[in-house]
Amino acid sequence: MLGVALAALTLAAGAHGAAAARPPIVWNAIPYSAKRKSEMSAYSRRHYGFSGSELRNPKVIVEHLTESSTFSAAWNTFAPDVADSELHELPGVCAHFIIDQYGTIHQLVPITLMCRHTVGLNWTAIGIEHVGFTPNDVLTRSRVMSASLRLTNWLRCREGIAINNVIGHNESLKSPYHHERIARLRGQTHDDFPTSSMVKYRAALRKMTC
Ligand SMILES: [Zn+2]
Repeated sequence: MLGVALAALTLAAGAHGAAAARPPIVWNAIPYSAKRKSEMSAYSRRHYGFSGSELRNPKVIVEHLTESSTFSAAWNTFAPDVADSELHELPGVCAHFIIDQYGTIHQLVPITLMCRHTVGLNWTAIGIEHVGFTPNDVLTRSRVMSASLRLTNWLRCREGIAINNVIGHNESLKSPYHHERIARLRGQTHDDFPTSSMVKYRAALRKMTC
C-alpha cells in the first residue's frame, strides 16, 4: 500500500514538472543574533575543530520529524537561543526548514548559516524538519511528501548533493561526513527517519531530475 502511495506521489511530483524548480517557501525566520552566531562558532570549534557559523558547500541533507503536532510548536522550540534539554549546549537547536502537516514549507534560517540539528553533521548539513511523529506522517501524506521531495530535490540539485547523502537523522552515524571531536557524543543519534523509511524516500527522489 505504501509502495502504491509512493508511486502515485512520484507521478504527481513529476506531473507538476517540479524537478529542480524552487518550490513555494514561506519565510518564518527565527532570531539568529550576533550572540547566536558567536555561540554557533564556539560550538563548531568544540565539536568540529574550526570556528565559524557559516554553512559552506553543504554535502548532506538530513530529514527529521519534529515529534510535535503543529508548526508553531516546532518553531517555538527552535526560536529561543537557550541551551537544549538533551546536551545542555548553546546555541539553541534549530533546523533550516520545517514542513508542516499541510505541506507548507517554512524556512527558518538561511542555508548559509549552520543550525544545530544533527550531532556530527551540523558543519555540513542542511536540516529539514517535518511536523509529525512517525515517518509515515510524511511518506503517506501526499501533500507533505510532495513538498518534502520538491524541497529536497531543489536543494540537492542546487548544492550538488548526492542522493545517498540525503539521509534520515537516524542514519547520521553512517554518513561519511560524520565528524565529532567529543568522544561521548560519537555514537549519539536520534530515532527519526530510519533507513527502512529513507530507502523509500530516496527511491522517490531518484525518480526526480535536476
Ligand atoms: Zn531529528
